[in-house]
Amino acid sequence: MQRKSFSISGRVQGVGFRPFVFRLAERYALSGTVRNGPEGVLLEVQGAEAALSAFAASLVAELPPLAQISAMSEADISPVEGEGAFRIIASSAGLAHEVLISPDVATCDDCLNDLREPAGRRYRYPFTNCTNCGPRYTITRAMPYDRAQTSMSCFPLCPDCAAEYNNPRDRRFHAQPNACPLCGPKVWIPDSAFEVDAAIKETARRLCAGAIAAVKGLGGFHLVCDATDDSAVARLRAAKERPHKPLAIMCANMDEARRYVDVSTDEERLLMSLERPIVLCPARGDNAGGGLSKLISPDTAYIGVMLPYTPLHHLLLEDAGRPLVMTSGNRGGEPIALGNREALTRLGGIADLFLLHNRDILIRTDDSVLRPMLGKSLQDGDAALMYLRRARGFVPAPLALSAQGAPILAPILGLGAELKNTVCLSRGREAFVSQHIGDLQNIETSAFQAEIVQHLASVLQVEPKGVVLDAHPDFANQSSGLFPALPRKTLQHHFAHAAAVLGENAVSGPALVLALDGTGYAPPDLDADCNIWGGELIFCDLEAGRMERTGSLGLMHLPGGEAAIRQPWRIAHGLLHRLDLLDGAKNLPWLPEQEKAADLIPQMIGRDINSPLTSSAGRLFDAVAALLGLCLETSYEGQAAIRLEDAQGKAAGEPKILPCPLLENPRAGVALGLDTDALFRAIFQAMKEGESVPALARAFHASLAEGFAELALAGSHRHGTRLVGLSGGVMQNMSLLILLKEKLRERGLTPLTHHRLPPNDGCISFGQVVWGQRNF
Ligand code: ZN
Ligand code: ZN
Ligand code: FE
Repeated sequence: MQRKSFSISGRVQGVGFRPFVFRLAERYALSGTVRNGPEGVLLEVQGAEAALSAFAASLVAELPPLAQISAMSEADISPVEGEGAFRIIASSAGLAHEVLISPDVATCDDCLNDLREPAGRRYRYPFTNCTNCGPRYTITRAMPYDRAQTSMSCFPLCPDCAAEYNNPRDRRFHAQPNACPLCGPKVWIPDSAFEVDAAIKETARRLCAGAIAAVKGLGGFHLVCDATDDSAVARLRAAKERPHKPLAIMCANMDEARRYVDVSTDEERLLMSLERPIVLCPARGDNAGGGLSKLISPDTAYIGVMLPYTPLHHLLLEDAGRPLVMTSGNRGGEPIALGNREALTRLGGIADLFLLHNRDILIRTDDSVLRPMLGKSLQDGDAALMYLRRARGFVPAPLALSAQGAPILAPILGLGAELKNTVCLSRGREAFVSQHIGDLQNIETSAFQAEIVQHLASVLQVEPKGVVLDAHPDFANQSSGLFPALPRKTLQHHFAHAAAVLGENAVSGPALVLALDGTGYAPPDLDADCNIWGGELIFCDLEAGRMERTGSLGLMHLPGGEAAIRQPWRIAHGLLHRLDLLDGAKNLPWLPEQEKAADLIPQMIGRDINSPLTSSAGRLFDAVAALLGLCLETSYEGQAAIRLEDAQGKAAGEPKILPCPLLENPRAGVALGLDTDALFRAIFQAMKEGESVPALARAFHASLAEGFAELALAGSHRHGTRLVGLSGGVMQNMSLLILLKEKLRERGLTPLTHHRLPPNDGCISFGQVVWGQRNF
């Protein structure tokens, strides 16, 4: 007879871990106890030596689907006389909670069967869940994860549900959101007689008749309409003031999805994963055997698809019998609505009807957006997928900051970037990056950010030692209310990109990073001319505390400042003027009113009126897209580049390589440059000679990738490192990313990409933490 104790940390609470241990102990005829503690799960087991080792092996090998062990220690202790059975004992509330809240999880197959069993007590019940599935993060107020700390606290369990909850052999043992039609939440359509199941059927019926519905979901409201109905989609776009940005759709199942998009094994794996993200899939050549509306994704050949992840979705999609548009329930720029009253007010002008429920959403969380990495160039260690938005399903799972055994660094809070904001808080060796918060351009989003910072700090129970902010001067004011007493430091935007991609790849020594994105402020101590950065080669040695810009793209004017970002034709016109190409420019694609405004641009630049300079790679894509007539004005960020990438996909054959030469000391304080002027000039010439738009788009991608690779190679010679991190929103361009990785490898360089964070500004908060840990 032996007795052993195990202390297990990781994602082990609220995921069916204790009943799993209980069943194992029964299987091996062991006695003992299991309980939740402040650092995870503590268990003691007693029995024959062989049974104990079989138990220990099964513990690791048969882990429940949602559980994850991050550390486990084992010790021999003295046996207890006369212990009868194995028992689950009450949780001890502790101070420092090392346990992790699980992200929300898609409905499991067992629960789906319950939902479809006409004789069962959960037939068509939209809040069916169990220990292996259901809401977690979005309904949890505080730790430890117990019903009383969730928005289920106001629904006392009925006797049947309580029996399940208390039975360790039941799938719903300690399932905190456990509920049934008798005791749990309900759905209804306000100002109508439609309740529970009738409300779902009525919503489906009206959607099929062209209505726009606001449907309360897991992490917020969705605006929903029939994805095959042009006029419904057009009406939704008009009401949401979102003319072109792609809309996600939800399909009832894989078979339905296959009717509209091409699904390879990679996409299928992502679509079916527990996280159920929106997955960008290629639209079928015939754009949908079943006739998906062309307005869903007018700018690209990709469609964002997801499968149902709550019982309510399953019922709604089955009843509707067609794919539905499911887009965040907000007006452009605001965070997704989460309360019933809030939604009725904010979405009242958009939705024709509301499908509400009374299980409160405590933590707002949007749908995540992912795509598999494409291309034959995938090598060992490469990321297999790209995150475009990391939120529901992934948050709050932590990212590793340092290896076991390495010293633990101070907890740091990173407040992220202004656009696509996330925040990040570290604890021990892990970093917790928040869900996508959005653009900090209105009070609602700033309030959402503050809420998430407080929530993260309280569930993790850490007080950060320092706060890292973006160097943009506006940022300091916006976030002054968050931990005002803590020491603060600022980090330039592209340096944060560099730290983020290197941190994700566990590189803390010398490395280069190509940070390619829209725009980022650079303070005067980094750039005496205060030009706006956005196409930079950064040398970074985190351990040595070194971070410097070593290379940069050519400068372009932004005539009209912010207006030039919304109207890329202005950037193109400014470049044509500066390169003395306007004289030979016939048939520019500008519209009549743009022609008029264009006449003023040379003067604006000449007199330096609101025409800042930028080295932004994103703006170069904008300028080329405008020159080619693909996108003169944008209605969402990245639109011009998306159209340019889409156009290059229509070209056949090997791309022409146009000149984009390397420059030594292009300007003060910059050692290496790329002559992007030469590339723009070459595209203009080829366009005049009648080269097709797709061929030019393709030549631009290939030539620029060639230029970036040469720039990185020159940086590698200078700094003696072969590692090249790739970060920034431009890296969402899969065609460019594939080319660039190939061209870097051809030169003996090693590309490093993001693995679990988006390359866009969603990664900035993590980079701030990686840097901050070594700088306070
Ligand atoms: Zn389940
Ligand atoms: Zn019940
Ligand atoms: Fe950025």
